[in-house]
Amino acid sequence: METKSRVAIVRDLRPLSDNDVDEMVREVVRLTGGLKDLVQSGATIVIKPNLVAPARPERGATTDPRVCKSLADQVSELGGHPVIAESSSIGVDTEDAIRECGYETLRSEGYDVIDLKKERLVTVPVPRGTALKELRLPEVVLNACAVISVPKMKTHDQSLATLALKNMKGLLPDTLKKQFHTTFGVFRAVAELNTVVRPSLSIVDAIVAQEGLGPVFGAPVHMGVLVGGRDPVAVDTIAGSIMGIAPGSLEISKHAAELGVGVMDPQFIEVVGVPVEAVSRRFTLASEALEETLDLPEGFELIFNEMACTGCRTGVMSSLWDLAEQGKLGVLRDTRIVAGLMDTPPAASPKRTIYVGVCAGKHRGEGEYVQGCPPNNVDIRSCITGSKDQSFFVA
Ligand code: SF4
Repeated sequence: METKSRVAIVRDLRPLSDNDVDEMVREVVRLTGGLKDLVQSGATIVIKPNLVAPARPERGATTDPRVCKSLADQVSELGGHPVIAESSSIGVDTEDAIRECGYETLRSEGYDVIDLKKERLVTVPVPRGTALKELRLPEVVLNACAVISVPKMKTHDQSLATLALKNMKGLLPDTLKKQFHTTFGVFRAVAELNTVVRPSLSIVDAIVAQEGLGPVFGAPVHMGVLVGGRDPVAVDTIAGSIMGIAPGSLEISKHAAELGVGVMDPQFIEVVGVPVEAVSRRFTLASEALEETLDLPEGFELIFNEMACTGCRTGVMSSLWDLAEQGKLGVLRDTRIVAGLMDTPPAASPKRTIYVGVCAGKHRGEGEYVQGCPPNNVDIRSCITGSKDQSFFVA
């Protein structure tokens, strides 16, 4: 009989002390088979959180440092060398994220927390690649005896959800992150990355998850849940089901299953611990949240080409957020904001059109233009409001 991929769910709805979180992590690891076979004495185990941007963990955008701390302790207890490693999103200083997300405290306690943007890179082939032939990845990751993916459970404006497979994109240098969006096709490329560095264990942090305008500006959701397993595709399938997202809707999972990274068919997945139905809750998707969350004026349109990556998406969303807080969203009446690489611009319109980011720059003559890769949030805001005291660029 075929062995099923096991996915464990644990839940604790109480306000959680550091000790409670440690117990939860140990329980989910135990239910997934423990760490003994993954940790060789003296070998490096990379623990990969999601620190997409400087944001406190209680906002639900970044992995709770207590989860990584517990995993690091368990690796150390088995004689391994845990390294908590991240490269934040394009244009973000990972050190800022390390500070704001609570990982500087771990450093001061002696944990090894590193910025992958500063690490030596090595080129490796992608044998199963069709989008990718080779990748440049941090040597520390390639030399590790195992990688543990520790994503946040949250919605994403491009991939519906960002979970264990997508979290691995944070191993890449910024140049490759951009090319994943602009050149290779992000869903396929992330799946192929997971064929080169397949996480040996994935623990999804949904102690506080995030719904709506993810991956950064969504609303926190108190779940008190961890989801874990050895098969990252199965883990994402179950985590997606908890969020109300059907398995077939997760494009990265579909490519990863096709590439043999894991299974997404629920009949080949065994759930242990708390049942999915007991913890599931339909998450508001990013596409549903924009109008619900922000009081946008008539005639406003946001056009993110599918190649627009996190840099432009986050820059635009944070600008809208700032304008909302300043009560200035009205300036967006009959305005289109366009980002991402595209051969042809959106059809001509009497609306004011603002092209954002160098990828959209070749169409700058057809509207206003904010340069940058990623574009600066201040420049986007200044262009929208027409303030003269900031640098912005009009073609
Ligand atoms: S311009 Fe924007 S969409 Fe293009 S690579 Fe830079 S951040 Fe990404």
